[in-house]
Order: sequence, then structure tokens, then C-alpha cells
Amino acid sequence: MSKFHKLLFLRGAKKRNPLIFKHFEDLKRSEGFSREELLQLNEERLKALCIFSFKNSPFYRRRFLEAGFDPEQQWSMDSFRKIPVTTKLELISENEDIHTPSHFFKKRFFVETSGTSGQILTFHRDESWDSFNRASIWRGYSWFGANPWDKKLYFWGYNTAKLKQAKLRIMDFLVNRFRLFDYDPDKLEKLIPKLSKVKVIEGYSSMIYELANLLEKKQVDFSELCMVKGTSEKIFPHYQDVAKKVFGKNIISEYGSTESGIIAFECPSGSMHINLEGVYVEKDPEDGGIIVTNLQSFSFPSIRYRLGDQIELADPDFECPCGMKHPVLLEVTGRIGKNIQGLSRNYPSLTLYYIFKNIYFNHERKIDFQAHQFEKGKLQIWVKEPVSDELKSLIFNESDNYFTDLELELLENHDFRQQAGKLRDFVSHIE
Ligand SMILES: [Zn+2]
Repeated sequence: MSKFHKLLFLRGAKKRNPLIFKHFEDLKRSEGFSREELLQLNEERLKALCIFSFKNSPFYRRRFLEAGFDPEQQWSMDSFRKIPVTTKLELISENEDIHTPSHFFKKRFFVETSGTSGQILTFHRDESWDSFNRASIWRGYSWFGANPWDKKLYFWGYNTAKLKQAKLRIMDFLVNRFRLFDYDPDKLEKLIPKLSKVKVIEGYSSMIYELANLLEKKQVDFSELCMVKGTSEKIFPHYQDVAKKVFGKNIISEYGSTESGIIAFECPSGSMHINLEGVYVEKDPEDGGIIVTNLQSFSFPSIRYRLGDQIELADPDFECPCGMKHPVLLEVTGRIGKNIQGLSRNYPSLTLYYIFKNIYFNHERKIDFQAHQFEKGKLQIWVKEPVSDELKSLIFNESDNYFTDLELELLENHDFRQQAGKLRDFVSHIE
């Protein structure tokens, strides 16, 4: 069966993504580079992208000229950093001028993505860029002894229309994966015998966590499993406890976005290595936000792009035991700009993350929560368990260390997994 799926994968890739094989080979080669070699490759690619964009993207040509930056004549990292950052809003409103002419590319794919704020961004992704992205994921798989054609369990959002579901099932058969659309207990029971053949589990980490909870008492044999990969959401420490118990493995994380590609992928030693062959990463000294330049995005460049996440980078001297010299991203701590409003001041939403992380580490207490704000100065925290005095005092005491003018209310048993897509830990209903 696996031979069949490997063949199918190779044939499909040759047709759709012919460059994936070259990119994968290159990535496997540069995996062993020294830090100097990696940084050199990183800068060469950055320069090539800037020169191409200067010549071919009307938006970036204007932007570079305004900053007095001609990447061909006077390349330096210092002058590169003078280019103002690009925002998501600009990717949307300047969309046509950002694109480079289609005749440079044999093939482009149309991509559509919507952010948490609801705006829709569309663009054309050239074949090399698309293939590089897939090759980067493939390389991450290879660190865990997995292949893209292995049997997979997928966890994405709900509310997929019936027709789309049917189409996906056919696709899924072809690419050897099956997915769960919801947590219907009957469907889950039927799934259990199949689970022991799965090699890769991937999707939103909160959903993987919920699956682990459901399976905790079911004794599923996961001996074939190579990798459990969480994307898009924070992985809380208590997710890992259940994951280790049920899957025998930690959930590893992949970090990236549709516009920026794969930014980092966790290695077997637990470090999120920055994909230096594909991205140039900076950290904004003012707000700690990540600024990414996707080095492969020739058809639709995003140079010094403000992705909106706050990050922590490891010490540049940190050496990962796995041997790879790619710099390490310690943590994606949260979204910038989502504030909890107190009566007289604002708090970053990632405060919640710290509160519940502290409770976990200091009291070994796992709490699944989601916070909602409907009114300034007040915050509702929804929890899945009954609200006890013990729970109240834990949360209120820890919150007192952070919030000074915010009234908290605990509400029990809300099933906050109802909404589609990403599980957010903070939802503001204030305009
Ligand atoms: Zn490593």
C-alpha cells in the first residue's frame, strides 16, 4: 500500500511541483552547513529577491526608491533594514503593484487566505515557491523518519460543506490521509482501528489535544507513529502531557503562514529551527514582533513583512544537540495588537497565556479556557470544568499579579470548540 502511495505522490509531484525534488535535495544538503555558510546563503537569496523585486514589482520599486535603496548598486544589510515594513493591509490594497509580471513563471497557483481579522488576501504563488514550501515540510518530516506519502491523520476546521467534504475524501484517498471533521463519538470509535497504521498526525494543536483526551482510556497502539505536528496555535504544556501519554510523543510545532511560507520547524531535539534557506527573519526591537522576508516569493514578494506575531529568539550562540546550525526560535508568544481593555489601561492578550502557564507550572493544574471581553473593564473566562472555589482562587490569585483594573468572571462548561478553525484564547467583542 505504501509503495502505491509513494508512486502516486511522486507522479503527482512531478506534474504539479516539478521543482520539489531539486528543492528537497538542496535543503537536505544545506541542512549540514555551518552557521557562516547558512548566513551567506541567506543573504545571497535576500539580495537576489530584492534585486528582482526592485526591477519587477512596481510597489517595491517605489518603496526602495523612497528609502534611497538600490539593491543592485549598493547592497548592504544596513540599507536593507531602512526599507519600511510591509503590512498585511498593503499586501491587500497594493496587491496588483506588488505582483511581478506573470511571464517570468512557467506556472503560478492562485492562493486565497483569510486572516483572523477577516480580510481576504489573494495572490499568485509561482511553482518554484510552492515547491520549495512543500520541500521544506518534507525536510521537516525527514527529521522524524516520515515521508509525505505516509498515512496521515489531518485535523483542520469544521463546517466544511458536504460537497467539499466528498471532494476532500477522494483527494484524501489519493494522498493517503484521512481527516476528522468533528468529534462525533461514533465516528471516532470507527476511526480507532485505523489509527494504529497512522504515521503522521497533524493539524491545530488544540484539536490534537482534544483527540488525545478522547483516546486517553482507549489503549490505541501508536507504534507506527513517527510524528505529531501542531500548527497555527500555541501548544500549552498540558497538551504535551496527554500527547506523551497517548501518542508516546510530544507535539512538535511548525510555524509559518501562507504569505511567508515555512518559517520554522521543530527538530527531534525540540528546537524550532528557522528555515534560513527560505526566510530572512528579524525581530522588531520595539514590539518584539517578527518581520519576515520570504526568500522564495518571486511572483508576489513580501519584503520585511510584519506578520503580527510576537516572538522570542534563542541566544545566537545556542547550539542545538541535533547538530543543525540554523538559528532557533524559542517561542511564538502571541498576536500583537489584541488587547484586553482594563478600565484605565490595556493588557496584551498574551498575559492570559502567562497566567495559565504559571498556574500549570506552580500548581500542576491544567485548565482549558477561552477568554471573552464584551465590555471594557470586564473579562469573562470560560472554562470546561465546573467552577469551584479552588479554581476561582487559583485563577484570581494569579491574575492579580497582572491585572489591576479588570473584573473577572468565571463561567463553566462552555463548549468553545464550536467555532470553525483556530482556537483563540482571547476573543474581543468590543468594536
Ligand atoms: Zn535541533
